[in-house]
Amino acid sequence: MSPCPVCNSTAVRIRWTGLGDRSFATTAELFDLAQCDDCGSRFLADIPPLEELGRYYPDDYWAGPTDQATHKQAQGGLLEAYRRFVLRDHVRFCGNVLKAQRARGVAVRVLDVGCGDGSFLEALGEKNAIGMDLGMAAVWAVRARGFRAVRGTLSDCPLADGSFSMVTAFHFLEHVHPVGPILEAAKRLLAKDGEVVFQVPNAASWQAKLLGRRWHGFDVPRHLIDYTAATFRRTLEKHGFQVVAENQQCLRDNPTTFATSVAPRLFPPSRLARGGKAEGLGATVANLTYLALTVAAMPFTWFEAACGRGASVMVHARPRR
Ligand SMILES: [Zn+2]
Repeated sequence: MSPCPVCNSTAVRIRWTGLGDRSFATTAELFDLAQCDDCGSRFLADIPPLEELGRYYPDDYWAGPTDQATHKQAQGGLLEAYRRFVLRDHVRFCGNVLKAQRARGVAVRVLDVGCGDGSFLEALGEKNAIGMDLGMAAVWAVRARGFRAVRGTLSDCPLADGSFSMVTAFHFLEHVHPVGPILEAAKRLLAKDGEVVFQVPNAASWQAKLLGRRWHGFDVPRHLIDYTAATFRRTLEKHGFQVVAENQQCLRDNPTTFATSVAPRLFPPSRLARGGKAEGLGATVANLTYLALTVAAMPFTWFEAACGRGASVMVHARPRR
């Protein structure tokens, strides 16, 4: 078996076998998840080659169905209002970075990599921000919100080097391997004094331990590497970043990761990708049930994050000079 892709240790073993795609059912294939006993990271035992990864993503992954004519999202207003509300941790954390940049006289310009439906860009409210995503449905959805969006990813980026004061990527880096060239590409896109905010699931969280192979943070087969908060920080440092701040409280992701682990078929993007309706009584019942599960998980997910074992970790870092 190949060594740990995070720390290079050979103390690796198969932790779980026979894991399927629980949330999107894109494949009937089963996968093994390996664990590194030195650093605690987990990873797909056989990481598929890059050109094969596309088939594990539904067409409108993280964008949801959009109206054919307007590309506006067909999802109900309730879900949209909920999304805006729960993005507050992302907006606060990134808003603080931008506020400090403005105080230093930096010209603020944001790129959100893996931008999905663009709800973060809209909530952040930076009009000249750009979204980038591999999915065309996401690109259209972001443009329908009034933002510039390009199709691409960091390793194949159509944007000019040195263009951005902040590059954000939420729940993106666990989908890529090897991560080194991706982090280098992010650095190249930064203007002088530019900074990054990255977020990944935390494999050392209490909910990961409690839920084991059912934990949605492993999201087999789309998550190739499952970092812990500690190994994620070390990975950034190894690739020339200085970590400035970290946050594990995340209202959007931590309770929903718990809820999705318990009821993967109720997770709205998953339900829609499986052909579920976006509107109507059935959709409302499903969304409200999922919301109730999410709200029920909030006290526990707040507590685990307060103890440094949150379900996700958001890191503010800058290239080391
Ligand atoms: Zn390791």
